[in-house]
Amino acid sequence: MGKLQGKVAVITGGTTGIGLATAKLFVEEGAHIFITGRREKELDAAVGEIGRNVTGVQGDVSNMKDIDRLYETIKATGRRLDIVFANAGVAEFASLQQATEAHFDKIFDINVKGTYFTVQKALPLLNDGGSIVLTASISGVKGTPSFGVYGASKAAVRNFVRSWTNDLKDRRIRSNVVSPGPIATPILDDQPQEAINKITATIPMGRLGRDEEVARAVLFLASDDSSFCCGAELCVDGGRAQV
Ligand code: NAD
Repeated sequence: MGKLQGKVAVITGGTTGIGLATAKLFVEEGAHIFITGRREKELDAAVGEIGRNVTGVQGDVSNMKDIDRLYETIKATGRRLDIVFANAGVAEFASLQQATEAHFDKIFDINVKGTYFTVQKALPLLNDGGSIVLTASISGVKGTPSFGVYGASKAAVRNFVRSWTNDLKDRRIRSNVVSPGPIATPILDDQPQEAINKITATIPMGRLGRDEEVARAVLFLASDDSSFCCGAELCVDGGRAQV
């Protein structure tokens, strides 16, 4: 029997990278999943690739009406949720000297506000004893040049699960974060090879991570295997922020 047999999960940013790898693994493990993505074409392609037990709902996590529509759609199917994987996020570089208000607002609207309200608005549908997993980043504890706004957004995400652990304890809902190091996903596509080489040189394991390696950590946090983990951060970073 799969680790998520009969469970229902929502995964934001489920069309590519870590979200898509996790979506596939959750379905393999017996879950029915709802995935979101901003663009209909990519969403349809991801739904086709996953192939079964998946429903796609188009939406932008920084848009509150889209989040409401996501949960209205799930509710209309008669299902409730066991797992919320709030994973959608964006990364952009800008130094303190160069960053604009638009850069700051975009990163915080998607990574922080989007994550917060994805979870808050899921609560009426989320079963007691459910599991919330957020995607933070080791950038939340590192001082990467020109990555200050992104790093701060992920530090905020990491902190959410500390207070939610208390806020949700009466409902036995566990909240944890997964913090990837550099992982080979489309988020790195815009980076020049020279920058990737520089990043790789800082990773003790000497390579980038793979999206399925993060997915397995998310499965652990989402499933009963982590039944006594709460408010925790699980780093999947080849040792980059650990040594
Ligand atoms: P990705 O670009 O493949 O995935 C990001 C996903 O989020 C995409 O599906 C994208 O469509 C979605 N998304 C972006 N903005 C959105 C919005 N406004 N509304 C809805 N969906 C939106 O990259 P990824 O690496 O798989 O990123 C997933 C998460 O992992 C992000 O939160 C990212 O910050 C985090 N992360 C990635 C790395 C890495 O090196 N790849 C490292 C640490 C943390």
